[in-house]
Formats: sequence, structure tokens, C-alpha cells
Amino acid sequence: MNIAVVGTGYVGLVTGTCFAETGNEVVCIDVDADKVQRMQQGEVPIYEPGLKTLFDRNTRQNRLQFTTSLEEGIKDAEVIFLALPTPPNGDGSADLSYILKVAAQLADLITDYTVIVDKSTVPVGTADQVHDTLASKISPELFDVVSNPEFLREGVAVDDFLKPERVIIGTESQRARNIMERLYKPFVRQGNPIYFMDVRSAEMTKYAANSFLATKITFMNDIANLCERVGANVDQVRIGIGSDSRIGKRFLFPGVGYGGSCFPKDVEALVRTGQDYDYDLRILQSVIEVNNRQKRILADKLVQYLGEDLCNKTIGIWGLAFKPNTDDIREAPALYIIQELLDRHATIKAYDPEAMENIRTRFGDQVHLVSDAYEAVIDVDALLIITEWSVFRTPNFEVMKSLMKQPIIFDGRNLYETDYMAKKGFYYESIGREVVD
Ligand code: NAD
Repeated sequence: MNIAVVGTGYVGLVTGTCFAETGNEVVCIDVDADKVQRMQQGEVPIYEPGLKTLFDRNTRQNRLQFTTSLEEGIKDAEVIFLALPTPPNGDGSADLSYILKVAAQLADLITDYTVIVDKSTVPVGTADQVHDTLASKISPELFDVVSNPEFLREGVAVDDFLKPERVIIGTESQRARNIMERLYKPFVRQGNPIYFMDVRSAEMTKYAANSFLATKITFMNDIANLCERVGANVDQVRIGIGSDSRIGKRFLFPGVGYGGSCFPKDVEALVRTGQDYDYDLRILQSVIEVNNRQKRILADKLVQYLGEDLCNKTIGIWGLAFKPNTDDIREAPALYIIQELLDRHATIKAYDPEAMENIRTRFGDQVHLVSDAYEAVIDVDALLIITEWSVFRTPNFEVMKSLMKQPIIFDGRNLYETDYMAKKGFYYESIGREVVD
């Protein structure tokens, strides 16, 4: 099939590459000329495990191409995916201007029947708006608008796309349904389902899924904070409740709050949709509040221990990305923690395996970025662990102790056993567990 993907970010590039991998002819379109040029020269502009191999194979065989021209990119496309940004407006609602602008441009370009697929996360009713935008210029016979929300997780995006647990397709058109089914069949050969539903339910499914997951994390963070106060160990509580299949083991790890480009904005947008329909989503309002508090928790613990003024202190940081295996720092807890430390005049040394360039762009030389984990602890008064990259799981604590000014760790991801840290002679605070003093 000939496919166009408009927007070549984390979702668009993975989508385009994976569809090329199953033999489709894919053109990816992006307004960012520099990004397009880099991709044309064989460079993958984001870090995503496994993507480069697929990208190389499919660009070599000319099944995956890149352009800045929407007109050229969609020329032969039977299906056009919109993988465009939907950032939050000031009031928390999703900004649909990227989607609606491209929809208006497509109305001037489409001449044969085309399926337009919303892959971006968009509020209920957006597919109808896209439909109306197109229908104001061209015959509704010439297109269908489908909602196909994306569930990939950054860091495992390629695996998630190639083997989705489920595919959601919202459409009432049999013609569009057949095309979408053909396109996705190769990805569900193991028997995972493609769920067809009405467009509004598909749009809602994505927000409900992300909001539920954000709630699950936040619930566990709240329980962890209480565990600290009552002298319980959240890791044991987590195992205790996770073995109940109604609760499940996953997504129960406490930490420094959820971040990333999706959960924060999607929860806000759903609350906003509720308000538009005179319905208060009170659970989600609390989730936002509790998560905002949680993002500050590591800095609060540090300040409580080292004092309000950090002007003569050097703080090491391990992990800057919003989660491991990505270079993405959008809404990362690290951003809030770094800002708090800078406001208190601390000197910061930080290391992350993939996200340092993005941090450099954001903070310039206010944060000293170093080339490995041990360098980030040289002469520091304390170390903060923010992202649970595997490489931080079994460090040489003797070496760390010899490098640090004081053996003090604030661990936002519970990477180490408290007993072990006591034996190693560290002051060690984590989330929802006893303090090792
Ligand atoms: P992104 O910011 O990484 O990528 C968006 C791309 O669109 C950018 O490269 C940008 O230059 C391009 N763009 C902007 N305007 C354009 C235009 N007019 N024409 C062509 N290209 C244009 O965004 P993302 O993380 O890939 O997310 C895209 C959508 O998918 C969002 O709605 C997001 O909520 C949703 N989503 C994201 C994830 C994720 O993990 N990142 C997962 C599921 C769903």
C-alpha cells in the first residue's frame, strides 16, 4: 500500500518505519526541514531502541522516504496518517491547530479516495472536525476519517508497534475498515485483537487508558508517601497487592511522579473535556495535584536534609530522561528538580545515557553534563537518582564512596535494597521505605 505519514516525531517515524517494514511504500512528511534533511541522509533524529536497523533497511530499499512537501508526500497515498503534535493550550485543552491546519491543506490536495487516520491523541469530536474541514471543500465520497490512537511506549516503541497488545480503529465506514485491517494484519498474527468501534469511542479509549495508567502510578505514589510515615515498606506492599490479578503487577512502582509528553497533557485534556460537558472528573483532578507534589519530593527530601540554601553544595544527578531508554525530556521530573536546585543556587553535575543533548538545549551551561555516571558523583554533597536506567542498578558503591564528598543518596526509583545500603555505609533515602541513616 502507499502510505503517507504527516509528522515525523516519536510516533510518526516509528509508524512510518514499521509500515515500511511490512512492505508498504511510505513517505514521511515533516515541516522541520533540518530533521527531514538528516533523515534523508540516513540519520535517525531520535533515540529509540531498534529503530535504526529498521530505518536503514527500509530507506536502503526505498520503501521509506522523507519530504517537507505535503503535496509531493501524499501524491500516491491511499492512507494518510496524522502523527502531529497536540500540545496543551494554556487552559489544559489539546491544541488541535496542527491537525486542523493539515486537514485544511489536504482538502486542497486530495483527488482520489483516501483514508485520513488520526494517530495523534485527540479529544472526542476531533475526527468529526477533521471530517467537516475536508467536507467543506471536497466531496465526502473522496475520503473517510478514521481514529487509530497509538499506544506505543517510548523506549520500546518499535516492539510495541510491531507487536501491539491491541489495535483500536474507530470508523463507521466498511471501506476504510477493510483498508485498515489489511494494513494492520501483519502486526497481529499472534492473535492479538484489532478492535473496531465508533470514532468517538476510539478517541475516548486513548484518554481513558492514559488517565487510568497515570492514576495507577499516582495512587502508588500516595501509598508510598503514607508507607514512609507509618513505617511500612512500599516495595513489600507493591508485591502484596500486585499478586492480585485484579490489580496486576505492572505500573505499581512508586517514584518521582509521571512525566513525558503524554500522561501530563492527556490527563489535563480529559479533565478539560469533562468541564466542557459540565462533568467534574474529580479523581483525575486529584491525580494532577498529587503528581505535581510528587515531582518535587526528591528535592524536598534533599532540602530537608541539607538545608534550604544549597549555594555551597554540589549535587550529582543520575538520569534526566522522563524514563529509561529514551532521550525525551518533555515534562520529565528532572526538569522540575533541576530548576528547584538552580533556584537554591546549587551546583549540578548530571549524567544520562541519552538525554544530555536535550538538557543542554534547555539549561545551557547551568548544568554540568558529564560523560559517565561516576564522573557525576565526584566531590558531590549528595546524589539524586531520577531515572531508572539499567546502568545505575549495580554500581560500584566503594568507588562511589571514594569519589563523593559525602556518601548521601536520594533515590527516586528505589534501585537498591535498604539493608544493603546500610551495610555499605550510605545515608540513603528512597520512596516509601525507611531512611537508612
Ligand atoms: P513529536 O513532537 O515528537 O512529533 C511531531 C512532529 O510533527 C514533529 O517532527 C514536527 O516537526 C511535526 N510537525 C508539526 N507540524 C507539522 C506539519 N504541519 N506538517 C508536518 N509535520 C509537522 O510528537 P509525538 O511524540 O510523535 O506525538 C505525536 C502525537 O502522538 C501526539 O498527539 C501525542 O500525544 C501522540 N502520542 C505520542 C506518544 C509518545 O510516546 N510520544 C504515544 C502515543 C501517542
